[in-house]
Amino acid sequence: MTTIAANLQAVHARIEHAARAARRPAADIALVAVSKTWPAQYVAQAYACGQRAFGENYLQEAVKKITEADALIARAHAPGLEWHFIGPIQSNKTRAIAERFDWVHCVTREKVAARLAGARPAHLAPLNILIEVNVSGETSKSGIAPGGESALARAVSALPRLKLRGLMAIPEPTPDVALQRRRFARLREMRDRLNAAGYALDTLSMGMSDDLEAAIMEGATIVRVGTAIFGPRDRER
Ligand SMILES: *Cc1c(COP(=O)(O)O)cnc(C)c1O
Repeated sequence: MTTIAANLQAVHARIEHAARAARRPAADIALVAVSKTWPAQYVAQAYACGQRAFGENYLQEAVKKITEADALIARAHAPGLEWHFIGPIQSNKTRAIAERFDWVHCVTREKVAARLAGARPAHLAPLNILIEVNVSGETSKSGIAPGGESALARAVSALPRLKLRGLMAIPEPTPDVALQRRRFARLREMRDRLNAAGYALDTLSMGMSDDLEAAIMEGATIVRVGTAIFGPRDRER
């Protein structure tokens, strides 16, 4: 068995274990394999193990890798890959994101959402959108400040060719499991409030290699895992 195959098995075991502890069906938790910095061959290896959803942060790297991975997998009769854009979005990159990806996890501005909507090709399914919220407060700069999600949800929902699916967060790393859970709980409560206000949000993207158990305990429906599948990255940009 390859390392990637063994790692994927171990991550699925962790997800199943956490789901059991949370009394949730493991099938309600999707695994996005974060392949940033790793070559298309790694994507193809994971694909051979049944992995279908992949996450990328850097657009230029992703566009090249998506083309290469498609060629390696030659998707003729196999189900296709699903690509999730999980990095910060620059407004001048929205067209390529709208054309190449199935999900965008880190929408924080109405302007960016409008550009994604305008660039989403009509022949593709609506682009799945998550609003990124900063649940760690001062310690992290990524995501909108809590409280801003309501107005942004309203704006995104009004745009064509986008489907608002839920919320995403990247809390600052901490070994304190109780603190991890409080931050993830905060995102879940925001999602619940939006749903009480009439939305039908089915997605909470939260939890990575080091904190996926806490995220699953608090209701994660997508965990984004890189290191635990592909190994430590030595060239983080
Ligand atoms: C890199 C990255 C991940 C994966 O992190 P690991 O700790 O390697 O599992 C998840 N989400 C986002 C947004 C990332 O940038």
